[in-house]
Amino acid sequence: MNSPFALRVRDLAHRPGEMREHSLDVEVPDAMGAGVIAVREGATLQLDVKLEGLHEGVLVSGHASAEATGECSRCLIDISEPVEVDFAELFAYDVSEDFDFFVHDDHVDCEPVVRDAVVLSLPFQPVCRPDCPGLDPVTGERLADLGEVTPREVLDPRWAALSGFQGVGTDAERVGTDDSTPHQSPEGDGRTA
Ligand SMILES: [Zn+2]
Repeated sequence: MNSPFALRVRDLAHRPGEMREHSLDVEVPDAMGAGVIAVREGATLQLDVKLEGLHEGVLVSGHASAEATGECSRCLIDISEPVEVDFAELFAYDVSEDFDFFVHDDHVDCEPVVRDAVVLSLPFQPVCRPDCPGLDPVTGERLADLGEVTPREVLDPRWAALSGFQGVGTDAERVGTDDSTPHQSPEGDGRTA
């Protein structure tokens, strides 16, 4: 049991009701996460673990916090974000199909449990900020570095020629209507039939 995540449970094993808490800093031996953001090898992971003796095994629960680093999926700048996860898993005394984790040599190895929780918490497409504008498709520059960029309005020249006439059509439709509330006409105007 050389894993830095391995905890001795000899004093708890087969003693229902016994409980112990640990706080430890672990140097992550292998990167957690394979995507653009991960808790890197060598990073420090703070672990608060509660160990409880139960009839069928040792319940390992707790909280892990670390810093994940990677790059923004839109603009590729380096980013880091905090990882905070909770976990709880029973480590059984006897190897059986009912459980996924087991007490080995009076130890529980929390590593796979913590790893799963951390990896699941990582975003698939991390961003430096929620509204990151990404990269300029032409120049490859990071748009956020260029200040507030107002998107260029692309006007179809055919419509641009008409823009000066806006409103004219609406007025034309009103020609011949001498009343601004035609629907109140008791005779109706044919449109309601
Ligand atoms: Zn970004």
